[in-house]
Amino acid sequence: MDLGIKDRTALVCGASKGLGRACAFALAREGVHVFLNARNADSLKVTADEIAVATGARVTIVAADITTPGGRDAALRACPDPDILITNAGGPPPGDFRQVEREDWLRAIESNMLTPILLIRATIDGMISRRFGRIVNITTSGVKSPATYPQLGISIGVRAGLTGFIGTLARQVTKHNVTINGLLPGRFMTDRLQQNLNFTAVQSGISLDEEIARAQKLIPAERFGHPDEFGAFCAFVCSAHAGYITGQNLMLDGGAFPGLV
Ligand code: NAP
Repeated sequence: MDLGIKDRTALVCGASKGLGRACAFALAREGVHVFLNARNADSLKVTADEIAVATGARVTIVAADITTPGGRDAALRACPDPDILITNAGGPPPGDFRQVEREDWLRAIESNMLTPILLIRATIDGMISRRFGRIVNITTSGVKSPATYPQLGISIGVRAGLTGFIGTLARQVTKHNVTINGLLPGRFMTDRLQQNLNFTAVQSGISLDEEIARAQKLIPAERFGHPDEFGAFCAFVCSAHAGYITGQNLMLDGGAFPGLV
C-alpha cells in the first residue's frame, strides 16, 4: 500500500533507538525525508546511515537535547517546516513519588509535556497553510491504564497533561487536514523497557528473566511488541489515508488494556 507521503518531510525526535527509530525507519521506507533527533551524535549517525542505506531516503541528523530550548531551536532550524512531527524523548525515571522533588516534577513537565507542545506550536501553522500535517505524540498506555504501572506515576501524570491539551487542539486544526494523535505503547522491547524491567526485578527481588516471563504473561499476546510493529502503525497514522483519524489515543499493547475504549 502506498501511504502517499513520498517526498514529505518529517522531524522525528528521540530517533536513534527504540520506538522513535522504528517510526523514522517506516517513514523513510515511504520516501519521506527524515530529520532524526537524539542527544548522542554517534548512535544517531549509526542509525541515520542504517536508514539511508536500507531505504534510499534522505536522512538528516540533529544531535541535541530536544527537552531544552537550545535543542528545540537546533531541531527547528534544521527542519523548520515539517509535514510530519513525531514527538518523543526518554521518560522520567520510575520511582516512589515521595522521593521525587519539585525540580524533578518540573523537569518531567518540561520534557514530556511542554516539549511536544512547543514543537507543535512552532510547526502547526505551516502545516495548516500547506493543508497537510500529521503530528504523533509517543506517550504511554499508562495514560489510559495508570494502575498497571504504579512505579511510573510521574511519567503518566505529565503525559496525561499533554493528552488533555491535545484533545482540545486536535479538534481545532483537523479542518485543515492536520491531525494530532497519541500513540500509546504498552510494552515494546527497547532499551527503555529493559531499564524498567530491571528496576521492577530489583524491587521484587527476582531475576530479570523471571520478571520478563512474569510481564509477558500479563499481556494477552504473551509477548512484548517489536518496535517495527510500532513504526509501521505510526507511518500509517502519518499517511495521506489517515486524515480522518485525529484526537485519538491509540493503544498498541498486545491486548493488555482490559476495557472497551
Ligand atoms: P529508548 O529505546 O530508550 O529510546 C529513546 C530514544 O530517545 C533514544 O534515541 C534516545 O537517544 C532519545 N532521547 C532520549 N532523551 C532524549 C532527549 N532529551 N532529547 C532527544 N532525544 C532523546 O526508549 P523507547 O522505549 O523507544 O521509548 C520511547 C518513548 O516511549 C519514551 O518516552 C518511553 O517512556 C515511551 N514508552 C515506551 C514503552 C516501551 O515499552 N518501550 C512503553 C511505554 C512508554 P539519546 O539517549 O542519544 O538522546
